[in-house]
Amino acid sequence: MKSHMNNTIPDSLADLLDIRGITTSKLNTVCRELEVGNLRQLSTAAAMEQLENVPALSPEDRKNIKRYLKVDKDADQRILLWDALLQGREILRALRTLPEVEKASLAGSLRRGKDTIGDVDIVVQVKGRDYKKLLYKIERMPFSERIITAGRNRICVVLHNQLLAFIYLADEQHFGAALWYYTGSKSYNALIEHMAADKGYRIDPLGLYDRKTNKYLATKTEEDIFNYLEMDFIPPELREEQYVIDKAIAHKLPPLVTFDQLKGDMQLHSDWSDGEGSIEHMARYIFNVFPHYQYIVITDHASANRTGHVLEPGSIYLQAAEINRVNDILGFDYVKKGVEVDILENGELSLPDELLQGFDWVIASVHSQFARDNTSRLLKACENPYVHCIGHPSGRIIGSRNPYPVNWDLVFDLAAATSTAMEINARPNRLDLNDSLIRKAITAGVKLVINTDAHNLTQLDFIQLGVWMARKGGCSNTDILNTLNWKEIEKFKNRKLSSIKKDHR
Ligand SMILES: [Zn+2]
Repeated sequence: MKSHMNNTIPDSLADLLDIRGITTSKLNTVCRELEVGNLRQLSTAAAMEQLENVPALSPEDRKNIKRYLKVDKDADQRILLWDALLQGREILRALRTLPEVEKASLAGSLRRGKDTIGDVDIVVQVKGRDYKKLLYKIERMPFSERIITAGRNRICVVLHNQLLAFIYLADEQHFGAALWYYTGSKSYNALIEHMAADKGYRIDPLGLYDRKTNKYLATKTEEDIFNYLEMDFIPPELREEQYVIDKAIAHKLPPLVTFDQLKGDMQLHSDWSDGEGSIEHMARYIFNVFPHYQYIVITDHASANRTGHVLEPGSIYLQAAEINRVNDILGFDYVKKGVEVDILENGELSLPDELLQGFDWVIASVHSQFARDNTSRLLKACENPYVHCIGHPSGRIIGSRNPYPVNWDLVFDLAAATSTAMEINARPNRLDLNDSLIRKAITAGVKLVINTDAHNLTQLDFIQLGVWMARKGGCSNTDILNTLNWKEIEKFKNRKLSSIKKDHR
């Protein structure tokens, strides 16, 4: 903030002076010629292309101001969480090579695991304050296309994919506070600030202070803050709502599921349907790269109703023989015989029950009619004794297809009653169920399965995203079926068979 030095510039516009090439006199001219006196007015004017009417600004100035105010229609975008994560990690890796950088962490909505991301936020703990040198180095890092603003505590970089990255600088004393503050969410921060005030503290990006004496208390780490406030550490994924804060105060936050608790991936496609790899290649690769998995389930698309990139009924026994051959090589029953069937328009499935009962694991998914209410189709699939899991239950494709309407109360209640699992599909553009439906499902007692739905080997890494969504939905390992060993999964399947038999007696 430079407002005290430039008292002609309205307070809310002072940060714009950090923009490269924007001087006090240029900003004064903008305010005068466009008759704007605050950030909102300037944003409106910039969005209406009025910056073009200010001759004092260069084309570069205009571009930077619009980008900074996020009114640049060509550049404004949100990207998928997965893409932002890869980008964010690349920046972290680069920053950590600098001797000035002691710590670096993702922050913002990326650290909280939102479905889509608008900017990449990063908090860095720096040693010393040779700020110019650091800036010089950051500007030349491979991720950086250009720097828009460079304030003392914040650098705004345009990345090569035109996304903005905000790099917040903190020293050792304040890293925890900065990380806490810039992780957000804003509404969650406001709740915590309020709580801190009630306890006689003040908290901001620079630390936790005693309100009366103004004495700095602590904030090298985020844990310090939670300790002072006498509450459990709240994982970033959960920093959205009041109910989590209440649980943390009562010390009742459940431990969230972790990747190493998973015992297998239960939706994989091979070259027997639309996947790219052979079963043997996939099995050998996963066996080596994910050593804590105890099983994998091959679930190729299968249908008696359609052809092309599906397993046809006549090939099912051939695939089973191939899986047996691969298991013989590995020396145990590692690859399970699964299938993904279509839920047809009337709720029937694309394979008859006689065939379904031969599989180790059956996923039923909606692959058609995405605009209609699909409650009845999902209910009917749950009632089938041989369906173990509903695949990508809401049908959304982030950015291109909304979830179809479903009465989730009905579906989750029936899924819980019939021991039918629901999938957390980890594909970056699906994330289906999403976090709020996950929370609703586990509240109803539904068991969930985290799957990659991988069609090639690189997609196996999506599992991290699935775990992330499960955590964001508040899942512990007990909510997630594939934290169980296969014997226990067999028990889950048997519960369904007996619950449905009981109903029909
Ligand atoms: Zn599918």
